Amino acid sequence: MKLIILDRDGVINHDSPDFIKSPAEWIPVPGSLEAIARLNQAGYRVVIASNQSGIARELFDMATLNAIHHKMHSLAQQVGADIDAVFFCPHAAADNCDCRKPKPGMFSEIAQRYKLSLKGVPVVGDSLRDLQAGYVSGCVPYLVLTGKGEKTQATGGLPPGTQVFADLAAMVAHLLKTAAAATPTTTPAPAINQ
Ligand SMILES: [Mg+2]
Ligand SMILES: [Zn+2]
Repeated sequence: MKLIILDRDGVINHDSPDFIKSPAEWIPVPGSLEAIARLNQAGYRVVIASNQSGIARELFDMATLNAIHHKMHSLAQQVGADIDAVFFCPHAAADNCDCRKPKPGMFSEIAQRYKLSLKGVPVVGDSLRDLQAGYVSGCVPYLVLTGKGEKTQATGGLPPGTQVFADLAAMVAHLLKTAAAATPTTTPAPAINQ
C-alpha cells in the first residue's frame, strides 16, 4: 500500500493568518484536488495531518471543523479525488500535547492506523513543523511554496533532503514521474494455462 501524508492549510487550500474558521473560508489551491485524484489513480491513499489549534482557541468548534471537512471531501469528490482520512490536533501550543506538529504524535497514529512503517512515505507541508514531524517519523519531506511555503523556504533550516516545489500539483507530477521512471519495464509474464 502506498501512502502520502499532506498538511491541509497552505497545501490543499489557501491559508489565512486569521485561521480557516468556516466552510466558506476553505478555498482549494488551484490544481490541488486534481493532484490528489492523480495520486489516487496511481494507487496512493491520501491522508491529512493538520494542526487545528483554532479549536483550542475557540475560534471554531468541532461541528464547524466537520462542516469544513465535509466541503473539502465533496469538492474532492467532484474531481474524482478521495482523501482517506483526516488526522488533526485540536490543541494549542501551551497544551503540550503529543500530536501538535512538530511533534510526531499524529504520524505515529497514522502508522498504527494503516499498520505500516512511515519510512519513505512522502510528507508535504508548507511549514517547517510539518516537515520536522514527518522527518523524525521516517518520511521524505517535500516543501510547497503555497501558503507559508515561501516564508518557510526563506527562513531555512529544512530537514536534510527536503525537496521544494511550487505547489502540490507540481510535487505530485514530479513524484509520479519519478515513480514511473523507477518502475522496471518488464515483458508481460506468459499466461499460465492450467
Ligand atoms: Mg500549513
Ligand atoms: Zn494535539
